[in-house]
Amino acid sequence: MGSVQIGTTILAFAITAVAVWLAVRAVMKMVAVIRLGQPDPTRFGDTGTRAKTMLAETAGHTRMLRWSVVGAAHWFVMVGFIVLSLLVLEAYFEVVSPTGGLPLVGNWAIYGLVTEWLAILGIVSILVLIAIRLRNRPTRPGGRSRFTGSTMWQGYFVEGIILAVLIMGFVIRGFKVATDHFEYPVWAAPLSHAVGGVLPNWAAGVSVAALVKIVISMTWLIVISLNVTMGVAWHRFLAFFNIFFKRDPGANVSGLGALRPMTSQGKPLDFEEADPEKDQFGVAQVEQFTWKGLLDFSTCTECGRCQSQCPAWNTGKPLSPKLLVLSLRDHAYAKAPYLLAGGGKDLTGEEKATAAQLAHMDVLALAEAEKPLIGTAEEGGIIDPDVLWSCTTCGACVEQCPVDIEHVDHIVDMRRYQVLIESSFPSEAGVMLRNLENKGNPWGAPQNTREDWTKGLDFEVPRVGEVDDFEYLFWVGCAGAFEDRAKKTTRAVATLLNEAGVKFAILGEGETCSGDPARRIGNEFVFQMLAQQNVETLNEAFEGREKSKRKIVATCPHCFNTLGNEYGQLGGEFEVVHHTQLLAHLVATGKLTPVQPVDGGVTYHDPCYLGRHNRVFAPPREVLGSAIAGGDGASGDGGLIEMPRNSERSFCCGAGGARMWMEEKIGKRINVDRVEEAMSTGAKTVAVGCPFCSTMLNDGVNGKGAGEQVEVVDVASVLLRSVKPEQAPGDTERTPVAG
Ligand code: SF4
Ligand code: SF4
Repeated sequence: MGSVQIGTTILAFAITAVAVWLAVRAVMKMVAVIRLGQPDPTRFGDTGTRAKTMLAETAGHTRMLRWSVVGAAHWFVMVGFIVLSLLVLEAYFEVVSPTGGLPLVGNWAIYGLVTEWLAILGIVSILVLIAIRLRNRPTRPGGRSRFTGSTMWQGYFVEGIILAVLIMGFVIRGFKVATDHFEYPVWAAPLSHAVGGVLPNWAAGVSVAALVKIVISMTWLIVISLNVTMGVAWHRFLAFFNIFFKRDPGANVSGLGALRPMTSQGKPLDFEEADPEKDQFGVAQVEQFTWKGLLDFSTCTECGRCQSQCPAWNTGKPLSPKLLVLSLRDHAYAKAPYLLAGGGKDLTGEEKATAAQLAHMDVLALAEAEKPLIGTAEEGGIIDPDVLWSCTTCGACVEQCPVDIEHVDHIVDMRRYQVLIESSFPSEAGVMLRNLENKGNPWGAPQNTREDWTKGLDFEVPRVGEVDDFEYLFWVGCAGAFEDRAKKTTRAVATLLNEAGVKFAILGEGETCSGDPARRIGNEFVFQMLAQQNVETLNEAFEGREKSKRKIVATCPHCFNTLGNEYGQLGGEFEVVHHTQLLAHLVATGKLTPVQPVDGGVTYHDPCYLGRHNRVFAPPREVLGSAIAGGDGASGDGGLIEMPRNSERSFCCGAGGARMWMEEKIGKRINVDRVEEAMSTGAKTVAVGCPFCSTMLNDGVNGKGAGEQVEVVDVASVLLRSVKPEQAPGDTERTPVAG
């Protein structure tokens, strides 16, 4: 070993020792912070599916590849990163000896070939990612960047380090070529040979270049170890765990559909016995999230995909799902020293730590602990109430997140505490909650008018109890029973079911609200009350039937989601379909025959709780396709025209998450944004599959004074026009323009 190699070896191992020590300390700190969260025993079952999903999402980049260019570039960088680790290891042999290399594979040409090409593709890919970050930088003129609020230096730092390490790999190989120590032929390592052609024959070059590569790599490790909230770097390690422990490992997207039940100490809360002084009601302190919540916050890469799709953020509201996650992450890590020293408030608000435990506490950690989790900027709050209440629970953030963060569950957990303990929520929603408690529907309509929609139909609508051989229980829903526009959809569906010879029955006055608005606003108590009542009624209606024969058809995607995905948490197991699914089946099996083509062009708005939350994308389009074509296959003028944001990337109407009953005071109205997109297609008909979407989009169209040119109407009514053109007008008459 020459004097140069002695120097490079000492320096390489010294900086590595410091970096590894700091990294171990950082990992221990992160584990300690994540362990501060509440227990969640539901995350450990079905390890086979969890492992399979984790491998598919990481090795296959199944979620990232939805953003094709970014996904492909990120895949090469990820693979390059793993291979890079081997090449960094190799550098330790090279600082010791210029002819050194990895044992076993180091002289193998195939190893040389694979690493050469992965490094080349890694360089190209990282340049693509840097270009994308630069093009989308928050300071660029015009438009809102998905990187707004991300810590940009950290992104450039990580990308710059990867680029530098990859380049140094070629410099090392180049010096080996120049000094005639290179094992691989030109066909296996063409770029390395080309670099070697321009480098001098410097004997110490390999070891010095290897030292530079190690110093760069260890600088990266030191910097990220000193910044444990640097998600853009740490996600490379944490994403595996976050994906493995996701809520629904077998589902297409985890964290959509049902909400997580309200839990205390990892157990679902039973409101008959729950005591707010002993049981946790929602989340009031960051440590009251589960450990998986804290792992979620730690894993965020700050990529901003969630932000770019969020309807609240895109219409000028203060909510960005990314910024919400980052605020919770930074708060958790800043408060952690206080919590780890034994600090924290018990459920009555008393300090748990003794004065001695907090005596030497960092003042910044103490100050952080005093901040309210929900509060305005003046109050020093971490999450502003306007942020919390801007969410429509549309799920676009969850859908887009490449590391499976479950934003909606976290937002609703915070809402639960605000509503149940603080009684703090937008006051206008109070009327809705009172109506739910007192009248069983959000509008406060008398229960004895639930069946009024049946009046005037030319057939009898059977009630459960009067008939018992029904195949489907038709869940009408509160909107379908009381809201004028939705009543037309209810009548259209009943008419079509009757036409197709489907045996169905309604609960009539036995039905109450499914509880969706109460649950999404955070009032789990009212939700449980309504849901238990409905589960009892439905279990009675289906008594003696096995699950496959307990069929329900619902016109409201919120009821569809709640009955199908959430009533199971309360002992109600049913087979629930949305009316568009049943209608598509009836058309496909020839039970319904469209005869009249629909003209003027139709565009379809995917309701969030039908599409994203429950993956029902095709059936409404199939129904519309058949109606547009008409009976003889002649296509109606215009056809089905998709909006730019459709299916998984559909844009919310603004009504979900109980936003239907709150005023929209900040920014542009979400429904107006969506209506502008719908109108840009030139379609005369905007088809919907949800009574709330119908209200929001109708209001949007009318607000733009376009009620005479564009009609918002349910898929069922479009089909009815085609199947029974002579009957349909009465059911689909235009809603007068609001005055
Ligand atoms: S659920 Fe929708 S509105 Fe709420 S934060 Fe996510 S994207 Fe935004
Ligand atoms: S999409 Fe996920 S990882 Fe990306 S910024 Fe949003 S929460 Fe973080």
